[in-house]
Amino acid sequence: MRRKLVVGNWKMHGSHKGNAELLAGIVGARPFACDVAVCVPFPYLSETAVTLANTDLRWGAQDCSAHEQGAYTGEVSAGMLAEFGCRYAIVGHSERRAYHGESDQVVADKAKAALARGITPIVCVGETLAQRDAGETEAVVKRQLSAVIQKLAHCVGEMVVAYEPVWAIGTGRTATPEQAQAVHAVLRAQLKAATPRADTMVLLYGGSVKPDNAASLFAQADIDGGLIGGAALKAEDFVAICRAA
Ligand code: PGA
Repeated sequence: MRRKLVVGNWKMHGSHKGNAELLAGIVGARPFACDVAVCVPFPYLSETAVTLANTDLRWGAQDCSAHEQGAYTGEVSAGMLAEFGCRYAIVGHSERRAYHGESDQVVADKAKAALARGITPIVCVGETLAQRDAGETEAVVKRQLSAVIQKLAHCVGEMVVAYEPVWAIGTGRTATPEQAQAVHAVLRAQLKAATPRADTMVLLYGGSVKPDNAASLFAQADIDGGLIGGAALKAEDFVAICRAA
């Protein structure tokens, strides 16, 4: 049995005051039957770490550098994230692939850099609407995952994979549970060919997960939880999604 995981991806949202309220709402709603984490903007890692220190809630970042250290202005290394107690780093989110030109190779390097510092990478894969309409969904997600599998080699089993169809992110348009499960099954099969641990790996779905659709998504055989954007910004919604897992 895989334990479910729900991760909030705050993206570029937050403020000292707002974060305190949001985190208090989540802390106060414990216990949860699943693992719960929030991935916050870098400047808020410190206060998040302090607030969640004596709870079973986890935290992480939304990106990390592929490099260890050096002349990389604006980058944040996995070693730095480890110093703030990060358990996770999201890598290869479609917004980073699209707006920051991150290639499959860069995403794989970032995943490896995270693991090297004991941080679990949450590797995002997903197709655009044009790719889905062209029947390329399976080929796209397999190509994206393959780059990471090759790079991580014997550590493949240590990552979390998130399937996030680009057309479902922030659009209010969720993949149906059947659509999401179909892709998760493809990803699980690909992982099985790469590691004996594939059956214990956590595969998340992300893209307009809300309190009213979470339970049906999480009920699918290969969907082990969610990566939540918009609905992670309101404690009430995020908590409801955690309860559905
Ligand atoms: P959304 O974002 O829940 O707002 O669609 C999910 C994500 O981008 O991780």
